[in-house]
Amino acid sequence: MRPSILNPLFADVSTLKGVGPKIAALLTKLAGPRLVDLILTPPSGIIDRSYRPKLADAEPGRVATVEVVVDRHTPPPAAKRNLPYKVLCSDSTGYVNLVFFHAKAEWLKKQLPEGKARLISGRIEEYGSERQITHPDFMATPGENSIPLVEPVYPLTAGLSAAVYRRAIADALTKLPTLPEWLYADELSSTGWPSWRDAVTSLHHPESSLDLNTDSQHRQRLAFDELLSNQLALALIRHRRQKMAGRPLNGDDGLIRAAEAALPFRLTGDQQHVLAEIFADMSSANRMVRLVQGDVGSGKTMVALLAMLRAVEAGTQAALMAPTEILAQQHYETIAPIAESLGLTTALLLGRDKGPARTATRSGVEKGYVHLVIGTHALFSGDVQFADLGLVVVDEQHRFGVSQRLSLQDKGRRADVLVMTATPIPRTLALTTYGDMEVSQIREKPPGRKPVTTRALPSQRLPDVVEAVARAIDRGDQVYWVCPLVADAEMLDLVSVETRASSLEDRFGDDVSVVHGQMKAEEKDAVIEAFSRGEKKILVATTVIEVGVNTPNATVMVIEHAERFGLAQLHQLRGRVGRGEKPSNCLLLYSAGDGGLGKTAKARLNILRETEDGFRIAEEDLALRGPGDALGTAQSGLPDFRIADLSQHGTLLERASETARRVVADDPDLETEKGAALRLLLYLYGQDDAVKRLRAG
Ligand code: ADP
Ligand code: MG
Repeated sequence: MRPSILNPLFADVSTLKGVGPKIAALLTKLAGPRLVDLILTPPSGIIDRSYRPKLADAEPGRVATVEVVVDRHTPPPAAKRNLPYKVLCSDSTGYVNLVFFHAKAEWLKKQLPEGKARLISGRIEEYGSERQITHPDFMATPGENSIPLVEPVYPLTAGLSAAVYRRAIADALTKLPTLPEWLYADELSSTGWPSWRDAVTSLHHPESSLDLNTDSQHRQRLAFDELLSNQLALALIRHRRQKMAGRPLNGDDGLIRAAEAALPFRLTGDQQHVLAEIFADMSSANRMVRLVQGDVGSGKTMVALLAMLRAVEAGTQAALMAPTEILAQQHYETIAPIAESLGLTTALLLGRDKGPARTATRSGVEKGYVHLVIGTHALFSGDVQFADLGLVVVDEQHRFGVSQRLSLQDKGRRADVLVMTATPIPRTLALTTYGDMEVSQIREKPPGRKPVTTRALPSQRLPDVVEAVARAIDRGDQVYWVCPLVADAEMLDLVSVETRASSLEDRFGDDVSVVHGQMKAEEKDAVIEAFSRGEKKILVATTVIEVGVNTPNATVMVIEHAERFGLAQLHQLRGRVGRGEKPSNCLLLYSAGDGGLGKTAKARLNILRETEDGFRIAEEDLALRGPGDALGTAQSGLPDFRIADLSQHGTLLERASETARRVVADDPDLETEKGAALRLLLYLYGQDDAVKRLRAG
């Protein structure tokens, strides 16, 4: 249970002053459903009202605060209600019109009595030869009520005004509890950081734009807290696992040698190296939890198969879990023939299997006849029992998060766990995502791999791309065509799958098929399978195809609005082609604004053209990606930090990782006074899982 001192922070946003159900829904969309979400969402900018010109000097376009005298009210003529209500004001140097649409005359008369002095703040506009301020942000009486000189600005959504948002934040800040300090005293004194409560307060009261920088004291403190919660959760999990008994899985190499002899190729150096690491883990009495990172096509599945054979040599069963049914099917088709030639029994277990077939498979698994089982998460649904599961391989791509991984590990009892991911991520990010695992990398590609020729083209070249597609189809090849949206959206000027599919159908007719995330799983699978069988020539898709779909006959990948995708994601998508004998092409179509493609966007697309090394792409992407562009991160399953910015806070992350180790060494069950404070930290940042596990284990 969450400690009660945190209750005010976990109250619903609808409990705030002036927040009804409609506004609560908007706040939830922007920040989250609870007060803590609101207060930990930092402002994205400031409005500086400290510019105090005389009217004659007031620069159009700037936000200014001016002291004026109200001269004359001019309501719109009765017949022309849609014209604005104007109030003419002046100072010793000039005039300004305050402009109000749909104004209530009564209220304006009271706020702005003729002949009285007023402080007005808002954006100065030029209207013909006149100056005006439309709907001033503040209208105050000089000397009486004050106007904030600097105001925070938050990301907003339609229907929610900045004023309402700020009022909600202000009310939320009055409910901040004073929490016991969880940082070590020496950490605080060496950094000079404020307390959590003071840091949160400062976050929402910026005094200048400097306060928004990632290196301001309060942002550093809050970023560190966020990173520490992540690192501590992972450190606790790692610690708990180290205490948990595994068992040694050893073999005589019989199956492994036979399998290697049957393969039409030799393992690469990286594959051999990674296998040696895996075998060493498996043979130790501790439980293995190892991640294998490697690009699509780097040969991870082969490594997994050999690890599974080692588990069978040791007299146990092995399971491979894939994120989708299609992938499970594809793994089965690769693995089953090899395993069966070695005299082993392999089973495929999918969620859609029902009735006698499922019963028979289940019973084989339960009795131990089945050596290797391949499936989706259905593998670990309640009704499947293993006779003796020694190894679980998770083909993660990037679908599973830390907590899912944990639950799997719990179900597998003492089984060793091997996770495979095709998302190469930079070292700093690996620390935040996989800090609970040992990590192996496969960087070397199997020999003979055909490079994919990558070109970036402005969207105006679309007709040329369509011709290239036509030529590919004439050669008997197939084509992927990726768009960022399923359907056209009013606010976004982007090409959708639906629109593109219908324009391609005009030219290619029945050769076009469509797949996207809003389709049912079975529908999606059917479309992808038909494409794999070559029944359709073009597959127009959203990024759903980035995960593991394998059609070696596809040689062209077209990606529209390539500028909208994260680099790692583009790299993943490109990995769908270049899987067969024939040369492949990746065509990145970008839509540049009037000023052409920005420098960063250009640099990003260039990296993709220069290299197919996913690790290098990931490092460069992180370095290039400015704060705020989280597109790549959000979609890659990396933790979604609100305040910490991994492109800026790499050093803080290293320090948080050290602090987490120190905590686990000092107080692994978080039982001391400091430990209790650290539990609060974990709850605050949504690491409830880690705390629950503490108590359980
Ligand atoms: P991943 O799982 O990393 O995407 P796979 O294991 O599926 O990669 O390998 C991709 C392709 O390369 C498969 O067709 C596989 O048979 C082949 N392959 C794997 N290892 C080697 C190797 N050492 N030499 C040549 N081809 C290999
Ligand atoms: Mg072991």
